[in-house]
Amino acid sequence: MSDLPGTLPKAGSARVLAVANQKGGVGKTTTAINLGTALAAVGETVLIIDLDPQGNASTGIGIARRAGLKSTYHVLVGEARFDDVIVESGIPRLDCAPSTMDLLGAELELSTIERKSYRLADALAVPALKRYSYVIVDCPPSLNLLTINALSAADAVLVPLQCEFFALEGLSQLIKTVDRVKANLNPKLTIQGVVLTMFDKRNSLSEQVASDVRGVLGDKVYQTVIPRNVRISEAPSYGKPVLLYDNACAGSQAYIKLASEIIRRERTLRAA
Ligand code: ADP
Ligand code: MG
Repeated sequence: MSDLPGTLPKAGSARVLAVANQKGGVGKTTTAINLGTALAAVGETVLIIDLDPQGNASTGIGIARRAGLKSTYHVLVGEARFDDVIVESGIPRLDCAPSTMDLLGAELELSTIERKSYRLADALAVPALKRYSYVIVDCPPSLNLLTINALSAADAVLVPLQCEFFALEGLSQLIKTVDRVKANLNPKLTIQGVVLTMFDKRNSLSEQVASDVRGVLGDKVYQTVIPRNVRISEAPSYGKPVLLYDNACAGSQAYIKLASEIIRRERTLRAA
């Protein structure tokens, strides 16, 4: 975090939301894909940026990995602009900047590069990207330089929390990182909200965890809870967001509700 504060590029009109949690398997990618799709479905223009070398956000909306695919890696290291890597998802108003395995090496390469924490923010600060109303960044399961780039570029963070026993474990570390980025790199950063994922209503533990989390985080936790839903886990193997795979299922309906709650919260944040 050696970059000087106050050197942020001028933001475009898009709201940039980073979906972050250093724990793997909590629903970051699922949330990035389905929130993005739900926002696009209600008329927003959305760009999903895949910052995870695993590339599940890209494949989950049907962008196949192929040799020579230009990716967010090339943007971060300065070999391409977003406009060279963005692909249409086939879903109206939803585009994606895919990731490739090249991103695995990005951390090391970025560590010696100029403005290493602002590579994403700088690449986003171009007039062409003003066509999006929301940019959603899917972060890797780590608080590494890729996630720091996402947090430095974001207006707000969205934290998926899985309804399991250790849900709150590690959250304080994430909040500390957000505070450090806010203090040193990106003063505008806030936590948009925490979304409870994989809620199982047949399991009393889920209920207990949800109420504990609400006790600690209060109204930072969205009212909408994402249920554990088999359709959500099936959809990626068809290269489709669950909203396209099965629009009527409980998982799709939950993501639609979440999108409208986030839009409402964004209006309040923007007005503040
Ligand atoms: P992360 O990006 O945080 O690592 P993912 O979004 O990839 O987590 O989710 C991890 C796994 O759990 C994936 O196989 C995904 O399909 C599944 N999953 C995520 N959310 C749900 C849900 N609400 N119901 C059922 N399965 C889910
Ligand atoms: Mg993921």
